[in-house]
Amino acid sequence: MALGKLRKAARVILVGPPGCGKGTQSGRLLDHFKLSSISSGDLLRQNVRAKTPLGVQAESIMKSGGLVHDSIMVKLIVGELSKRGWVETRGNMASGLCLTGPLSVISKPSAPAASDCPSASFLLDGFPRTQSQAKSLDEEVQMNLVVNLDVPHDVILERIAGRLVHEPSGRVYNTTWNKPMNPGVDDITGEPLTRRSDDQPETFAKRLKAYAEATEPLLEHYDKAGVLWTVRGKTSDEITPQLDAEIQRRFA
Ligand code: ATP
Ligand code: MG
Repeated sequence: MALGKLRKAARVILVGPPGCGKGTQSGRLLDHFKLSSISSGDLLRQNVRAKTPLGVQAESIMKSGGLVHDSIMVKLIVGELSKRGWVETRGNMASGLCLTGPLSVISKPSAPAASDCPSASFLLDGFPRTQSQAKSLDEEVQMNLVVNLDVPHDVILERIAGRLVHEPSGRVYNTTWNKPMNPGVDDITGEPLTRRSDDQPETFAKRLKAYAEATEPLLEHYDKAGVLWTVRGKTSDEITPQLDAEIQRRFA
């Protein structure tokens, strides 16, 4: 299948339990459709590494497998969205910058206008994660596809045991399914890969619980809004072609 060119803006959220492969799918979508993305986890980890006030606040919560406070997350993500021009500071139409596509004004009173221009496409990985975060996002921009990555529980547990990451980029590998070209080092930069400290079994169990309690209910919210689409698969390689086809069907 020839991939690549979108006809209209895709504003996609990836939802799924920790370890379901959101990071992997997001990397592949970026590559296949030239989308840009924000990973809330990567953004937080960058702040932790840089020891920003926000990072210092978030670090212990992340280490314990809990959820960072909604108000911090909304500030962080909405800030990043407007920095990149994907939502507007009202009255200042970032979407007006698109030279190739028409402008569609969403009639919903709470959500401001969004650009239909394909270059205004973006993907969110890991945000929103609670009802309150979803409501805040609704007020900023109307997302038009929410992908529910439905991966069996036992597969997720197995996968986390072998997960390696390249922290600076967020690229994810697995010692069984998705090996780096050279053991222990990133394919692109050659830098060392590490294990995430919150992938330890006890912390991971807490993250799964937080997902079930706080995030899973979001699926219903987006189902009601008519934008939910569920994809099932045991491996990322089973999911990718289905996801590519769906993006192609809806936006290309
Ligand atoms: P995976 O990367 O395997 O999909 P994950 O989705 O649990 O797992 P990240 O998205 O990287 O992992 O998030 C790591 C941690 O960062 C979370 O456990 C949580 O503490 C914090 N975090 C990330 N996004 C949010 C969010 N939207 N709201 C609250 N906390 C968040
Ligand atoms: Mg992730």
